[in-house]
Amino acid sequence: MPSPDCSVVPGLAPVASRPGTPGHPIRTHADYLASLRGRNLRVFALGERLAEPVDHPLVRPSVQAVAATYELAVTDPALATARSSLTGLSVNRFLHVTESREDVVAQNKMQRRLGQLTGTCFQRCVGMDAINALFSVTYDCDQAHGTPYHPRLRAFIAMAQELNLVIGGAMTDPKGDRGKSPSEQEDPDVFVHVVERRSDGLVLRGAKAHQTGCINSHWIVVMPTMRLSAEDRDFAVVAAIPVEAPGLTFVYGRQSCDTRSLEGGSIDVGNAGYSGQEAMIILEDVFVPWQHVFLDGETGFAAPLVERFTAYHRRSYVCKTGVGDVLIGAAAAIADMNGVAKASHVRDKLVEMTHLNETIYGAGIASSHESRRTAAGNYQNDDLLANVCKQNVTRFPYEMARLAQDIAGGLVVTLPSERDLRSEEIGPLLERLLRGRAGVPTEHRVRMLRLIENMTLGRNAVGYLTESLHGAGSPQAQRVQIARQMDLEAKVALARRLAGIDDPAVADSSTKR
Ligand code: SF4
Ligand code: FE
Repeated sequence: MPSPDCSVVPGLAPVASRPGTPGHPIRTHADYLASLRGRNLRVFALGERLAEPVDHPLVRPSVQAVAATYELAVTDPALATARSSLTGLSVNRFLHVTESREDVVAQNKMQRRLGQLTGTCFQRCVGMDAINALFSVTYDCDQAHGTPYHPRLRAFIAMAQELNLVIGGAMTDPKGDRGKSPSEQEDPDVFVHVVERRSDGLVLRGAKAHQTGCINSHWIVVMPTMRLSAEDRDFAVVAAIPVEAPGLTFVYGRQSCDTRSLEGGSIDVGNAGYSGQEAMIILEDVFVPWQHVFLDGETGFAAPLVERFTAYHRRSYVCKTGVGDVLIGAAAAIADMNGVAKASHVRDKLVEMTHLNETIYGAGIASSHESRRTAAGNYQNDDLLANVCKQNVTRFPYEMARLAQDIAGGLVVTLPSERDLRSEEIGPLLERLLRGRAGVPTEHRVRMLRLIENMTLGRNAVGYLTESLHGAGSPQAQRVQIARQMDLEAKVALARRLAGIDDPAVADSSTKR
Protein backbone atom coordinates (compact mmCIF):
# COMPACT_ATOMS: atom_id res chain seq x y z
CA MET A 1 0.00 0.00 0.00
CA PRO A 2 2.22 2.87 -1.20
CA SER A 3 1.59 6.17 0.46
CA PRO A 4 3.89 8.80 -0.97
CA ASP A 5 2.13 11.58 0.94
CA CYS A 6 3.66 10.40 4.19
CA SER A 7 7.06 11.68 3.16
CA VAL A 8 5.81 15.18 2.41
CA VAL A 9 6.26 17.15 5.56
CA PRO A 10 5.35 20.82 5.74
CA GLY A 11 8.32 23.04 6.52
CA LEU A 12 10.91 20.57 5.24
CA ALA A 13 12.88 21.07 2.08
CA PRO A 14 12.66 17.97 -0.14
CA VAL A 15 15.94 16.11 -0.42
CA ALA A 16 15.78 14.39 -3.76
CA SER A 17 18.59 11.91 -3.62
CA ARG A 18 19.18 11.12 0.02
CA PRO A 19 18.59 7.45 0.87
CA GLY A 20 15.38 7.09 2.83
CA THR A 21 13.49 9.57 0.63
CA PRO A 22 10.89 8.50 -1.95
CA GLY A 23 12.44 6.35 -4.65
CA HIS A 24 15.60 5.79 -2.61
CA PRO A 25 15.09 3.00 -0.09
CA ILE A 26 17.87 2.38 2.40
CA ARG A 27 19.54 -0.96 1.83
CA THR A 28 23.08 -0.96 3.15
CA HIS A 29 25.15 0.32 6.03
CA ALA A 30 26.45 3.12 3.76
CA ASP A 31 22.91 4.06 2.65
CA TYR A 32 21.87 4.30 6.28
CA LEU A 33 24.76 6.62 7.17
CA ALA A 34 23.96 8.78 4.12
CA SER A 35 20.30 8.91 5.16
CA LEU A 36 21.28 10.55 8.45
CA ARG A 37 23.54 13.24 6.97
CA GLY A 38 22.51 16.81 6.17
CA ARG A 39 19.31 16.76 8.19
CA ASN A 40 20.19 19.87 10.18
CA LEU A 41 18.86 18.39 13.41
CA ARG A 42 18.94 20.49 16.54
CA VAL A 43 21.10 18.25 18.73
CA PHE A 44 23.00 19.35 21.82
CA ALA A 45 25.77 17.39 23.53
CA LEU A 46 28.23 18.53 26.19
CA GLY A 47 26.73 22.02 25.98
CA GLU A 48 27.22 22.52 22.25
CA ARG A 49 25.07 22.13 19.18
CA LEU A 50 26.42 19.30 17.03
CA ALA A 51 27.00 20.24 13.40
CA GLU A 52 26.60 16.70 12.09
CA PRO A 53 25.71 14.14 14.76
CA VAL A 54 26.38 11.13 12.55
CA ASP A 55 30.05 12.08 12.21
CA HIS A 56 30.57 13.11 15.82
CA PRO A 57 32.83 10.64 17.68
CA LEU A 58 30.52 10.72 20.70
CA VAL A 59 27.53 9.68 18.58
CA ARG A 60 29.11 7.53 15.88
CA PRO A 61 29.34 4.23 17.84
CA SER A 62 25.58 4.41 18.44
CA VAL A 63 24.96 4.97 14.71
CA GLN A 64 27.11 1.90 14.00
CA ALA A 65 24.93 -0.17 16.31
CA VAL A 66 21.79 0.72 14.32
CA ALA A 67 23.68 0.17 11.06
CA ALA A 68 24.27 -3.41 12.25
CA THR A 69 20.51 -4.00 11.91
CA TYR A 70 20.77 -3.13 8.20
CA GLU A 71 23.87 -5.30 7.79
CA LEU A 72 22.16 -8.29 9.34
CA ALA A 73 19.24 -7.96 6.92
CA VAL A 74 21.76 -8.30 4.08
CA THR A 75 23.90 -11.09 5.57
CA ASP A 76 21.09 -13.12 7.17
CA PRO A 77 17.79 -12.25 5.49
CA ALA A 78 16.08 -15.35 6.89
CA LEU A 79 16.63 -13.98 10.38
CA ALA A 80 16.32 -10.23 9.88
CA THR A 81 13.72 -9.79 7.13
CA ALA A 82 10.12 -10.92 6.58
CA ARG A 83 7.52 -10.71 3.85
CA SER A 84 4.98 -8.00 4.65
CA SER A 85 1.32 -8.33 3.72
CA LEU A 86 1.03 -4.54 3.88
CA THR A 87 3.38 -3.94 0.97
CA GLY A 88 4.10 -7.40 -0.45
CA LEU A 89 7.78 -6.58 0.06
CA SER A 90 10.50 -8.35 1.92
CA VAL A 91 11.07 -5.86 4.75
CA ASN A 92 13.44 -5.43 7.65
CA ARG A 93 12.00 -7.39 10.56
CA PHE A 94 12.16 -4.27 12.74
CA LEU A 95 9.44 -2.79 10.49
CA HIS A 96 7.35 -5.93 10.16
CA VAL A 97 3.88 -6.30 11.65
CA THR A 98 3.79 -9.81 13.08
CA GLU A 99 1.62 -12.20 11.08
CA SER A 100 2.25 -15.37 13.07
CA ARG A 101 3.56 -16.67 16.35
CA GLU A 102 6.78 -17.57 14.53
CA ASP A 103 7.23 -13.90 13.58
CA VAL A 104 7.18 -12.91 17.26
CA VAL A 105 9.69 -15.63 18.13
CA ALA A 106 11.93 -14.58 15.22
CA GLN A 107 12.11 -11.04 16.64
CA ASN A 108 13.72 -12.44 19.81
CA LYS A 109 16.19 -14.56 17.84
CA MET A 110 17.21 -11.54 15.78
CA GLN A 111 17.59 -9.44 18.95
CA ARG A 112 19.86 -11.99 20.57
CA ARG A 113 22.04 -12.16 17.45
CA LEU A 114 22.35 -8.38 17.27
CA GLY A 115 23.28 -8.27 20.96
CA GLN A 116 26.05 -10.76 20.18
CA LEU A 117 27.29 -8.72 17.21
CA THR A 118 27.27 -5.29 18.86
CA GLY A 119 27.62 -5.92 22.60
CA THR A 120 25.20 -3.05 23.18
CA CYS A 121 21.74 -1.63 22.51
CA PHE A 122 21.02 -1.47 18.76
CA GLN A 123 18.03 0.81 19.43
CA ARG A 124 15.53 -0.36 16.85
CA CYS A 125 13.23 -2.56 18.94
CA VAL A 126 11.28 0.33 20.42
CA GLY A 127 9.86 1.27 17.03
CA MET A 128 9.16 -2.38 16.19
CA ASP A 129 7.26 -2.88 19.42
CA ALA A 130 5.44 0.45 19.01
CA ILE A 131 4.07 -0.28 15.53
CA ASN A 132 2.96 -3.74 16.63
CA ALA A 133 1.19 -2.45 19.74
CA LEU A 134 -0.40 0.40 17.78
CA PHE A 135 -1.54 -1.97 15.05
CA SER A 136 -4.03 -3.67 17.36
CA VAL A 137 -4.84 -0.62 19.54
CA THR A 138 -5.75 1.60 16.58
CA TYR A 139 -7.88 -1.23 15.19
CA ASP A 140 -9.71 -1.64 18.51
CA CYS A 141 -10.21 2.12 18.83
CA ASP A 142 -11.62 2.40 15.30
CA GLN A 143 -13.99 -0.49 16.02
CA ALA A 144 -15.17 1.12 19.25
CA HIS A 145 -15.37 4.77 18.19
CA GLY A 146 -15.41 4.82 14.38
CA THR A 147 -12.10 6.71 14.31
CA PRO A 148 -9.77 6.64 11.24
CA TYR A 149 -6.52 5.67 12.96
CA HIS A 150 -5.86 2.13 11.78
CA PRO A 151 -5.78 2.87 8.01
CA ARG A 152 -3.54 5.88 8.70
CA LEU A 153 -1.16 3.70 10.69
CA ARG A 154 -1.10 1.05 7.98
CA ALA A 155 -0.19 3.72 5.41
CA PHE A 156 2.58 5.03 7.66
CA ILE A 157 4.03 1.56 8.27
CA ALA A 158 3.87 0.79 4.54
CA MET A 159 5.81 3.98 3.79
CA ALA A 160 8.45 3.09 6.41
CA GLN A 161 8.73 -0.45 5.03
CA GLU A 162 9.16 0.76 1.46
CA LEU A 163 11.93 3.21 2.37
CA ASN A 164 13.36 0.95 5.10
CA LEU A 165 13.40 3.67 7.75
CA VAL A 166 14.23 3.64 11.45
CA ILE A 167 11.22 4.41 13.62
CA GLY A 168 11.90 5.46 17.18
CA GLY A 169 9.16 4.87 19.72
CA ALA A 170 8.93 7.62 22.35
CA MET A 171 6.90 6.72 25.39
CA THR A 172 8.47 7.96 28.64
CA ASP A 173 7.64 11.55 29.60
CA PRO A 174 9.71 13.42 32.23
CA LYS A 175 6.56 13.09 34.43
CA GLY A 176 7.17 15.99 36.86
CA ASP A 177 5.45 15.37 40.21
CA ARG A 178 4.90 11.59 40.23
CA GLY A 179 2.02 12.04 42.67
CA LYS A 180 -0.01 14.03 40.13
CA SER A 181 -1.73 13.15 36.88
CA PRO A 182 -0.63 14.85 33.63
CA SER A 183 -3.46 17.40 33.75
CA GLU A 184 -2.67 18.26 37.41
CA GLN A 185 0.98 19.16 36.76
CA GLU A 186 2.08 22.71 37.46
CA ASP A 187 3.98 22.68 34.16
CA PRO A 188 2.01 20.70 31.56
CA ASP A 189 5.11 20.39 29.37
CA VAL A 190 6.43 17.55 31.54
CA PHE A 191 4.08 15.38 29.45
CA VAL A 192 3.61 15.57 25.68
CA HIS A 193 0.21 17.09 24.95
CA VAL A 194 -1.92 18.78 22.31
CA VAL A 195 -1.87 22.59 22.53
CA GLU A 196 -3.91 23.27 19.40
CA ARG A 197 -6.27 21.34 17.12
CA ARG A 198 -6.39 22.81 13.62
CA SER A 199 -8.25 21.84 10.49
CA ASP A 200 -5.06 20.36 9.06
CA GLY A 201 -3.59 18.74 12.16
CA LEU A 202 -2.35 19.03 15.73
CA VAL A 203 0.24 21.12 17.50
CA LEU A 204 2.20 19.32 20.22
CA ARG A 205 4.32 20.46 23.10
CA GLY A 206 6.20 18.68 25.88
CA ALA A 207 9.14 16.31 26.18
CA LYS A 208 10.17 12.68 26.21
CA ALA A 209 13.02 11.56 28.46
CA HIS A 210 15.87 9.09 27.73
CA GLN A 211 14.68 8.11 24.29
CA THR A 212 16.62 5.23 22.82
CA GLY A 213 18.15 5.87 19.39
CA CYS A 214 15.97 8.89 18.60
CA ILE A 215 18.69 10.89 16.81
CA ASN A 216 19.55 7.82 14.76
CA SER A 217 15.91 7.45 13.71
CA HIS A 218 14.06 8.93 10.72
CA TRP A 219 10.72 9.18 12.50
CA ILE A 220 9.65 9.13 16.11
CA VAL A 221 6.24 7.99 17.29
CA VAL A 222 5.17 9.70 20.51
CA MET A 223 2.81 7.72 22.72
CA PRO A 224 1.29 8.28 26.16
CA THR A 225 3.27 6.75 28.99
CA MET A 226 0.53 5.81 31.45
CA ARG A 227 -3.12 5.12 32.16
CA LEU A 228 -5.09 8.37 31.64
CA SER A 229 -8.38 9.72 32.96
CA ALA A 230 -10.99 11.80 31.11
CA GLU A 231 -9.34 15.08 32.32
CA ASP A 232 -6.13 14.04 30.58
CA ARG A 233 -7.68 14.17 27.12
CA ASP A 234 -4.99 16.43 25.63
CA PHE A 235 -2.31 14.00 26.77
CA ALA A 236 -3.88 10.99 25.02
CA VAL A 237 -2.02 11.53 21.78
CA VAL A 238 -0.09 9.24 19.47
CA ALA A 239 1.65 10.85 16.51
CA ALA A 240 4.45 10.13 14.07
CA ILE A 241 6.91 12.99 13.60
CA PRO A 242 9.91 13.17 11.26
CA VAL A 243 13.07 13.68 13.31
CA GLU A 244 13.92 16.84 11.36
CA ALA A 245 10.53 18.48 11.98
CA PRO A 246 10.65 22.14 13.08
CA GLY A 247 10.27 22.50 16.85
CA LEU A 248 12.16 19.35 17.83
CA THR A 249 15.31 19.55 19.95
CA PHE A 250 17.45 16.64 21.15
CA VAL A 251 19.77 16.72 24.16
CA TYR A 252 22.25 13.87 24.20
CA GLY A 253 22.42 11.77 27.36
CA ARG A 254 25.82 11.34 29.02
CA GLN A 255 27.19 7.83 29.12
CA SER A 256 29.82 6.67 31.54
CA CYS A 257 33.33 7.08 30.02
CA ASP A 258 31.82 8.51 26.81
CA THR A 259 34.56 11.11 26.37
CA ARG A 260 37.08 8.33 25.87
CA SER A 261 35.58 8.23 22.35
CA LEU A 262 36.91 11.77 21.81
CA GLU A 263 40.50 10.84 22.62
CA GLY A 264 41.37 8.74 19.58
CA GLY A 265 42.79 5.24 19.94
CA SER A 266 40.79 2.06 20.11
CA ILE A 267 41.79 0.32 23.36
CA ASP A 268 40.56 2.49 26.25
CA VAL A 269 37.02 2.72 24.84
CA GLY A 270 36.70 -1.06 25.24
CA ASN A 271 34.22 -1.42 22.38
CA ALA A 272 35.29 1.03 19.70
CA GLY A 273 32.60 -0.04 17.27
CA TYR A 274 29.32 0.19 19.12
CA SER A 275 27.34 1.97 21.81
CA GLY A 276 23.74 2.73 22.67
CA GLN A 277 22.10 6.15 22.54
CA GLU A 278 19.60 7.89 24.74
CA ALA A 279 18.54 11.52 24.40
CA MET A 280 15.88 13.86 25.68
CA ILE A 281 13.43 15.04 23.02
CA ILE A 282 11.88 18.47 23.50
CA LEU A 283 8.78 19.36 21.47
CA GLU A 284 8.07 23.08 21.09
CA ASP A 285 4.90 23.61 19.08
CA VAL A 286 5.50 20.77 16.67
CA PHE A 287 2.86 20.54 13.95
CA VAL A 288 1.58 17.07 12.98
CA PRO A 289 -0.76 16.65 9.99
CA TRP A 290 -3.80 14.47 10.67
CA GLN A 291 -2.47 11.66 8.51
CA HIS A 292 0.23 11.07 11.13
CA VAL A 293 -2.06 11.22 14.16
CA PHE A 294 -2.93 7.72 15.42
CA LEU A 295 -4.79 8.62 18.61
CA ASP A 296 -6.17 11.92 19.86
CA GLY A 297 -8.20 12.24 23.00
CA GLU A 298 -9.23 8.59 23.39
CA THR A 299 -8.00 8.35 26.96
CA GLY A 300 -9.44 4.86 27.38
CA PHE A 301 -6.95 3.48 24.88
CA ALA A 302 -3.85 4.84 26.65
CA ALA A 303 -3.70 1.94 29.15
CA PRO A 304 -4.14 -0.84 26.55
CA LEU A 305 -1.47 0.81 24.42
CA VAL A 306 1.00 1.01 27.32
CA GLU A 307 0.25 -2.59 28.30
CA ARG A 308 0.60 -4.03 24.80
CA PHE A 309 3.73 -2.02 24.06
CA THR A 310 5.39 -2.98 27.33
CA ALA A 311 4.43 -6.64 26.86
CA TYR A 312 6.28 -6.65 23.55
CA HIS A 313 9.14 -4.53 24.81
CA ARG A 314 9.74 -6.43 28.05
CA ARG A 315 10.41 -9.63 26.19
CA SER A 316 12.46 -7.69 23.62
CA TYR A 317 14.99 -7.43 26.44
CA VAL A 318 16.35 -10.82 25.43
CA CYS A 319 18.67 -8.43 23.54
CA LYS A 320 20.63 -8.45 26.80
CA THR A 321 21.26 -12.18 26.46
CA GLY A 322 23.14 -11.53 23.22
CA VAL A 323 25.18 -8.94 25.13
CA GLY A 324 25.47 -11.51 27.95
CA ASP A 325 26.92 -13.99 25.46
CA VAL A 326 29.67 -11.46 24.72
CA LEU A 327 30.34 -10.95 28.44
CA ILE A 328 30.51 -14.69 29.12
CA GLY A 329 32.89 -15.01 26.17
CA ALA A 330 35.01 -12.14 27.49
CA ALA A 331 35.14 -13.72 30.97
CA ALA A 332 36.20 -17.08 29.52
CA ALA A 333 38.76 -15.40 27.27
CA ILE A 334 40.35 -13.37 30.07
CA ALA A 335 40.47 -16.44 32.32
CA ASP A 336 42.43 -18.18 29.59
CA MET A 337 44.72 -15.17 29.10
CA ASN A 338 45.29 -15.06 32.86
CA GLY A 339 46.22 -18.77 32.81
CA VAL A 340 43.31 -19.98 34.97
CA ALA A 341 40.92 -21.36 32.35
CA LYS A 342 40.97 -24.80 33.94
CA ALA A 343 40.36 -23.72 37.55
CA SER A 344 37.15 -25.39 38.73
CA HIS A 345 35.77 -22.25 40.39
CA VAL A 346 36.26 -20.30 37.15
CA ARG A 347 34.37 -22.98 35.20
CA ASP A 348 31.64 -22.86 37.81
CA LYS A 349 31.32 -19.08 37.52
CA LEU A 350 31.00 -19.39 33.75
CA VAL A 351 28.29 -22.01 34.26
CA GLU A 352 26.49 -19.66 36.65
CA MET A 353 26.69 -16.80 34.13
CA THR A 354 25.28 -19.05 31.44
CA HIS A 355 22.48 -20.23 33.72
CA LEU A 356 21.48 -16.62 34.45
CA ASN A 357 21.68 -15.60 30.81
CA GLU A 358 19.58 -18.50 29.56
CA THR A 359 17.00 -17.94 32.30
CA ILE A 360 16.38 -14.48 30.84
CA TYR A 361 16.18 -15.89 27.34
CA GLY A 362 13.93 -18.76 28.40
CA ALA A 363 11.23 -16.44 29.75
CA GLY A 364 11.42 -14.06 26.80
CA ILE A 365 11.26 -16.64 24.05
CA ALA A 366 8.50 -18.52 25.89
CA SER A 367 6.49 -15.28 26.00
CA SER A 368 6.86 -14.96 22.22
CA HIS A 369 5.92 -18.62 21.67
CA GLU A 370 2.74 -18.05 23.67
CA SER A 371 1.61 -15.23 21.34
CA ARG A 372 -2.04 -14.99 20.43
CA ARG A 373 -3.76 -13.45 17.42
CA THR A 374 -5.36 -10.04 18.02
CA ALA A 375 -8.61 -8.85 16.44
CA ALA A 376 -6.49 -6.69 14.09
CA GLY A 377 -4.74 -9.84 12.85
CA ASN A 378 -1.24 -9.43 14.26
CA TYR A 379 0.17 -11.46 17.17
CA GLN A 380 0.57 -10.32 20.77
CA ASN A 381 3.00 -12.08 23.11
CA ASP A 382 2.21 -13.37 26.62
CA ASP A 383 2.24 -10.52 29.14
CA LEU A 384 3.04 -12.45 32.32
CA LEU A 385 6.07 -14.21 30.85
CA ALA A 386 7.23 -10.92 29.27
CA ASN A 387 7.18 -9.29 32.68
CA VAL A 388 9.04 -12.22 34.24
CA CYS A 389 11.66 -11.89 31.48
CA LYS A 390 12.14 -8.17 32.13
CA GLN A 391 12.19 -8.66 35.92
CA ASN A 392 15.05 -11.14 35.43
CA VAL A 393 16.78 -8.57 33.23
CA THR A 394 16.67 -6.03 36.08
CA ARG A 395 18.81 -8.39 38.21
CA PHE A 396 20.79 -11.04 36.39
CA PRO A 397 23.08 -8.83 34.28
CA TYR A 398 24.33 -7.24 37.53
CA GLU A 399 25.28 -10.66 38.91
CA MET A 400 26.85 -11.59 35.59
CA ALA A 401 28.84 -8.34 35.62
CA ARG A 402 30.06 -9.15 39.16
CA LEU A 403 31.15 -12.62 38.09
CA ALA A 404 32.94 -11.25 35.01
CA GLN A 405 34.84 -8.75 37.16
CA ASP A 406 35.61 -11.50 39.67
CA ILE A 407 37.14 -13.65 36.93
CA ALA A 408 38.94 -10.71 35.27
CA GLY A 409 40.71 -9.46 38.39
CA GLY A 410 41.40 -5.94 39.66
CA LEU A 411 43.33 -4.87 36.57
CA VAL A 412 39.96 -4.25 34.95
CA VAL A 413 39.87 -0.96 36.86
CA THR A 414 43.55 -0.12 37.28
CA LEU A 415 44.97 -0.56 33.79
CA PRO A 416 47.19 2.18 32.39
CA SER A 417 45.82 4.05 29.38
CA GLU A 418 46.40 3.28 25.73
CA ARG A 419 48.66 6.34 25.55
CA ASP A 420 50.88 4.88 28.26
CA LEU A 421 50.95 1.52 26.49
CA ARG A 422 51.98 3.28 23.27
CA SER A 423 54.52 5.56 24.99
CA GLU A 424 58.08 5.01 23.85
CA GLU A 425 59.31 5.71 27.33
CA ILE A 426 57.09 3.48 29.46
CA GLY A 427 55.30 1.28 26.92
CA PRO A 428 57.88 -1.52 26.54
CA LEU A 429 58.09 -1.97 30.31
CA LEU A 430 54.29 -2.11 30.64
CA GLU A 431 54.14 -4.60 27.80
CA ARG A 432 56.39 -6.92 29.82
CA LEU A 433 54.79 -6.39 33.22
CA LEU A 434 51.20 -6.73 32.08
CA ARG A 435 51.76 -10.01 30.29
CA GLY A 436 49.60 -12.95 31.41
CA ARG A 437 49.89 -16.50 30.14
CA ALA A 438 52.85 -17.07 27.80
CA GLY A 439 51.96 -16.72 24.16
CA VAL A 440 49.21 -14.15 24.67
CA PRO A 441 50.11 -10.65 23.44
CA THR A 442 49.77 -8.12 26.25
CA GLU A 443 47.65 -5.89 24.03
CA HIS A 444 45.11 -8.70 23.57
CA ARG A 445 44.83 -9.11 27.32
CA VAL A 446 44.42 -5.36 27.81
CA ARG A 447 41.78 -5.17 25.09
CA MET A 448 39.77 -7.96 26.71
CA LEU A 449 39.98 -6.28 30.12
CA ARG A 450 38.83 -3.00 28.56
CA LEU A 451 35.87 -4.76 26.95
CA ILE A 452 34.84 -6.11 30.36
CA GLU A 453 35.24 -2.64 31.84
CA ASN A 454 33.20 -1.18 28.96
CA MET A 455 30.33 -3.59 29.59
CA THR A 456 30.29 -3.59 33.39
CA LEU A 457 31.40 -0.05 34.32
CA GLY A 458 31.96 1.89 31.14
CA ARG A 459 30.01 3.14 28.18
CA ASN A 460 28.05 0.00 27.44
CA ALA A 461 27.23 -0.63 31.10
CA VAL A 462 24.66 2.08 30.46
CA GLY A 463 22.82 -0.40 28.27
CA TYR A 464 23.80 -3.64 29.95
CA LEU A 465 23.11 -2.62 33.54
CA THR A 466 21.17 0.58 34.28
CA GLU A 467 19.14 0.45 31.09
CA SER A 468 18.36 -3.19 31.93
CA LEU A 469 17.10 -1.95 35.28
CA HIS A 470 14.93 0.94 34.11
CA GLY A 471 14.32 0.47 30.37
CA ALA A 472 10.79 -0.69 29.46
CA GLY A 473 9.76 0.13 33.02
CA SER A 474 11.58 -0.07 36.35
CA PRO A 475 11.38 -3.30 38.39
CA GLN A 476 8.28 -2.26 40.32
CA ALA A 477 6.32 -1.79 37.08
CA GLN A 478 6.85 -5.46 36.24
CA ARG A 479 5.96 -6.55 39.77
CA VAL A 480 2.65 -4.71 39.46
CA GLN A 481 1.88 -6.56 36.22
CA ILE A 482 3.01 -9.89 37.68
CA ALA A 483 0.80 -9.30 40.74
CA ARG A 484 -2.16 -8.56 38.47
CA GLN A 485 -1.75 -11.83 36.64
CA MET A 486 -0.50 -14.27 39.26
CA ASP A 487 -4.03 -15.55 39.84
CA LEU A 488 -3.51 -16.45 43.49
CA GLU A 489 -7.09 -17.59 43.98
CA ALA A 490 -6.74 -20.37 41.43
CA LYS A 491 -3.43 -21.44 42.95
CA VAL A 492 -4.87 -21.48 46.48
CA ALA A 493 -7.75 -23.61 45.17
CA LEU A 494 -5.24 -26.12 43.78
CA ALA A 495 -3.50 -26.36 47.14
CA ARG A 496 -6.73 -26.60 49.17
CA ARG A 497 -7.99 -29.41 46.98
CA LEU A 498 -4.82 -31.49 47.35
CA ALA A 499 -4.68 -30.77 51.08
CA GLY A 500 -8.11 -32.32 51.31
CA ILE A 501 -9.76 -29.14 52.56
CA ASP A 502 -12.22 -28.31 49.76
CA ASP A 503 -12.37 -31.82 48.30
CA PRO A 504 -12.00 -34.46 51.02
CA ALA A 505 -12.34 -37.17 48.34
CA VAL A 506 -8.78 -36.40 47.20
CA ALA A 507 -7.38 -37.05 50.69
CA ASP A 508 -9.55 -40.16 51.13
CA SER A 509 -8.58 -41.71 47.79
CA SER A 510 -4.85 -41.27 48.51
CA THR A 511 -5.02 -42.90 51.98
CA LYS A 512 -7.02 -45.85 50.65
CA ARG A 513 -4.46 -46.67 47.95
FE1 SF4 B 1 16.32 -3.22 21.68
FE2 SF4 B 1 17.40 -3.99 23.92
FE3 SF4 B 1 18.01 -1.59 22.95
FE4 SF4 B 1 15.60 -1.99 23.96
S1 SF4 B 1 17.54 -2.10 25.09
S2 SF4 B 1 16.08 -1.02 21.99
S3 SF4 B 1 15.20 -4.12 23.44
S4 SF4 B 1 18.50 -3.54 22.02
FE1 FE C 1 14.58 0.21 25.98
